Amino acid sequence: MTEFKLLDHGYLKLVESWGTDERIIEAARMSTGGGFVSWEPYDGHPKGDAGLLEFLWTKKHATPFEMCGLVFEVHAPISVYREWHRHRTQSYNEASARYAPLPSLDYVPTVDRCMIAAEKNKQAAAMEGADELTADAAYRWLRDLEELFNHSQRVYSSGLNCGIPKEIARGALTVHRYSKMRVSANLRNWLAFLTLRMDTNAQWEIRQYANAIGEVIAQTFPRTWSLFKKP
Ligand SMILES: Cc1cc2nc3c(=O)[nH]c(=O)nc-3n(C[C@H](O)[C@H](O)[C@H](O)COP(=O)(O)OP(=O)(O)OC[C@H]3O[C@@H](n4cnc5c(N)ncnc54)[C@H](O)[C@@H]3O)c2cc1C
Repeated sequence: MTEFKLLDHGYLKLVESWGTDERIIEAARMSTGGGFVSWEPYDGHPKGDAGLLEFLWTKKHATPFEMCGLVFEVHAPISVYREWHRHRTQSYNEASARYAPLPSLDYVPTVDRCMIAAEKNKQAAAMEGADELTADAAYRWLRDLEELFNHSQRVYSSGLNCGIPKEIARGALTVHRYSKMRVSANLRNWLAFLTLRMDTNAQWEIRQYANAIGEVIAQTFPRTWSLFKKP
């Protein structure tokens, strides 16, 4: 199974994919009763079926790209899901903290992550009027954050142990608690997701997951991927 280790405890695993670049051509040729012929030049098609694939992509005849898709299992902080689940047209199943306690894993960023320069990204910038961040200050703050996570786990566990319902006890946790989900979408949808979430304007954490999905798509649908990446 293709798997990427991401952040401190996260991962993205390919569960399955369906379709190929050839299937996209076959779907498009339903309109004329034909099928996939060749990626090499043939009679009347100097670019082979690569010409049709390029035409579909550049002219936004997008439905044939819906004939393929991918399912992933994702382990990520809840803060990443807050962004991901805004992609309303994907399908999700997530762990329920009402039915089972969430394992004690919280995302602690690295000092380097905190120091990433905001460069042209307003959302990533420090609060106006804040001190200029130093590595020492970031380190100290991250230790405070870890202490908070330890305390929040203690409050969560003590609530669970004294019989507080799981759905209420989870109020002790922060949005950096890890959770797990499966997500499914067709190829067209994934490419729209990647346009938004591989972009440098997207938050660094979700971008790590998007980049991993991009690697899977590049391997599985290499011709579509090179059209997607073409400037
Ligand atoms: C860098 C970045 C910053 C963001 N910041 C914020 C923020 O501060 N606050 C915030 O709330 N969100 C924010 N978002 C989320 C953003 O507004 C979108 O909700 C998210 O990117 C999902 O995109 P989408 O709607 O295209 O995807 P999907 O929900 O998967 O929809 C796919 C497509 O289906 C169509 N569609 C789906 N639902 C509707 C509908 N109800 N009406 C009409 N057409 C529909 C649209 O064509 C849409 O593009 C941010 C996103 C990014 C990438």
